[in-house]
Amino acid sequence: MNSPANSFIVGEERPDMPPFNWPKVPKVRLGGFGADPAMTELESEMQRTVHSFAEKVMRPVGVALDRMSAEEVVAAGSPYWHYLTELQKLGITPATFMELSPEERGRLFPIVMEEMGWGDGGLSIIFGACSLPPLMALVFQRKFLIERFPDTLRGCWAITEPDHGSDSLDVSRQVFHASGNYGRPNCVATIRGDKVVINGQKSAWVSNAPLAEVCVLYCAADTGNGPDTAHGVCVLVPMDAPGVSRGKPLEKIGQRALPQGEVFFDNVELSTDYIVAGPEDYQRAVYFIHTEANSQMACIWTGVARSAYEMAFAYAHQRKQGGVPIIRHQAVAQRLFHMYRKIEASRALARRVCLFNHTAEVPALQAAMAAKITGTQTAFEVASEAIQIFGGNGLTREYPIEKIFRDARASMIEDGCNDLLAIKAGFNMIDPDLL
Ligand SMILES: Cc1cc2nc3c(=O)[nH]c(=O)nc-3n(C[C@H](O)[C@H](O)[C@H](O)COP(=O)(O)OP(=O)(O)OC[C@H]3O[C@@H](n4cnc5c(N)ncnc54)[C@H](O)[C@@H]3O)c2cc1C
Repeated sequence: MNSPANSFIVGEERPDMPPFNWPKVPKVRLGGFGADPAMTELESEMQRTVHSFAEKVMRPVGVALDRMSAEEVVAAGSPYWHYLTELQKLGITPATFMELSPEERGRLFPIVMEEMGWGDGGLSIIFGACSLPPLMALVFQRKFLIERFPDTLRGCWAITEPDHGSDSLDVSRQVFHASGNYGRPNCVATIRGDKVVINGQKSAWVSNAPLAEVCVLYCAADTGNGPDTAHGVCVLVPMDAPGVSRGKPLEKIGQRALPQGEVFFDNVELSTDYIVAGPEDYQRAVYFIHTEANSQMACIWTGVARSAYEMAFAYAHQRKQGGVPIIRHQAVAQRLFHMYRKIEASRALARRVCLFNHTAEVPALQAAMAAKITGTQTAFEVASEAIQIFGGNGLTREYPIEKIFRDARASMIEDGCNDLLAIKAGFNMIDPDLL
């Protein structure tokens, strides 16, 4: 049988390849991050810097906040404030990313976000939430808003409503039920002349809302014909504007370091200068923020999965049963291998999608959703497998693994339930013209 033109025999030299000089028994010891391709100097340096921040600041703060009540988390003097102070010292903001070329940004962003996720899932979301208001101002080139809201402010993103969770993420109503009655939105911005007046409320799930200084608000717009959810408005709202108030911080099972709560608007009047995207641009603004948020989630939860894997790997070397470290038991080694395999796949997808989305003319929402679903599902599965490896110890609060599991469970609902995102992304693939 003829061999294909590009085949070669192992050991033979090929002019287009480096000489074949593996040892007789080839072995590769993968680095801590798996089968990583070479990184640039900037990427390695940023990875080391953020890793050290994640280890020294995020992990201890995340565990401390997890054990506090939601009220204690947002109180003066809580470790939340220490985290924010140290985060600011890192100096990583949307503006610093924007100084890089699209390709550099697309490569560096997932590395940074994965390391943060490795530190703590909920605290990484705080970083993400803070980045969204200034990022929207930058992307939509709103000079007034860029100057009005420096990117060092604490931020939040409010889109979901008490009566419209999944619904508010589906602007084109592709997944709406045929016989559904969707009723009035809970929050409406009335635009008249050069004023926008906001009334209503957003859901109890707005991340970082209890302590935010600026909110990127997505809501229905009324330009004279009643509230329109498909052509809504995206506004940057100062959280100290008259008429803005907040609900009590939410108690929940996971990501307890991340404060969440309602935002209420009672005749909040702003100049139209505060609008990032008006009704005609609303769908673009929804598309962009979902693409960004889903990409962030993909990288963060890959990092969370890696942290659970590393803890289980270390524990499997320490814990002995039958006189040998449990990693010597076939089932444990196999379980660890599948955890590693899933993380590698999740990281590869997250990095590929980030690079595409930062360099393409129009980012791909369905690709970001694929990466978000994969990353969060991976974090949940790997954390669950890690608990299995820890045995009874995995269930106790003595070990951090149960916290990681609780954090990861919440991620499959956060930024859109994974099942709904899959339906939405599926429709997007059939009909890419509809958001
Ligand atoms: C940790 C966390 C952080 C969050 N952060 C923010 C934030 O920063 N800002 C913000 O605005 N919101 C935030 N959210 C809210 C989040 O986006 C919503 O919880 C999510 O979109 C689901 O809405 P819901 O909870 O109202 O569930 P529902 O919409 O009531 O859904 C309940 C179930 O019904 C299914 N379902 C609903 N509608 C459909 C449909 N049409 N087709 C098929 N299945 C359907 C869903 O998939 C789900 O399984 C956060 C949530 C969490 C958990």
